[in-house]
Amino acid sequence: MRKACVAGNWKMNKTVEESIVLVNELLPGLEGLDAVDSIICPPFTALAKVADLLKGSSILLGAQNLFWEAQGAYTGEIAPQMVAELAEYVILGHSERRAYFHDSDEAVNKKVLAALAAGLKPILCVGETLEENESGNTGDVVKRQLTTGLKDVSKDDIGNMMIAYEPVWAIGTGKAATAEGANQIIKDFIRDELANLASPEAAENIRILYGGSVKPENAREYFQQPDIDGALVGGASLKAEAFIQITEAAA
Ligand code: PEP
Repeated sequence: MRKACVAGNWKMNKTVEESIVLVNELLPGLEGLDAVDSIICPPFTALAKVADLLKGSSILLGAQNLFWEAQGAYTGEIAPQMVAELAEYVILGHSERRAYFHDSDEAVNKKVLAALAAGLKPILCVGETLEENESGNTGDVVKRQLTTGLKDVSKDDIGNMMIAYEPVWAIGTGKAATAEGANQIIKDFIRDELANLASPEAAENIRILYGGSVKPENAREYFQQPDIDGALVGGASLKAEAFIQITEAAA
């Protein structure tokens, strides 16, 4: 049995003060939903404060990115160990990083390897653009992102990861993929490719989330699908009530 997971990607939103307010609203609603791993991923600047607020709770903490080098002259970057001091998870390969900051599959792979070496649990995002979807290339794109993103990752380490299937055309657009459609991609391309890359057992055990315009109104449909183990939530994770409702649906 794969434990359900709902992760909130706050993206570049919330000052430290605003993060404190949101966490204090989330805590009472999320506590007790023990059937679900609930992860929140604030911006770097709020990680330390949010880590303090989450102490003693069952809510888990993630970051949204990192750089692969351990230290040095990389102005503006954050090393894996710096993240690992505060958080357990890290989102890598998000489509916004790929599109705006030119994170290639090779760069994502370096980040995945560095994150694992630092003891972090990466949530690797994969997904096709609208153009790739319309030209029938979803399977090839997702497989390429997985093959390169997971290069040199050991079978054991794959067990410390999650995958998020996030069709780019569904992120922040309100145009969510159908639950059946997302489940099909996850089953036919993502679990299938993971079975090739690692083992059928690893593919069966790894948690795969859907992401893209998940809201309280549609969350349940995704969670009813056999191959969808939870959600990576952007916009709706910024509203305590919505994020709690999505987590309740997963529970
Ligand atoms: C995301 O950023 O990972 C995401 C899925 O965003 P949204 O829920 O806003 O579509």
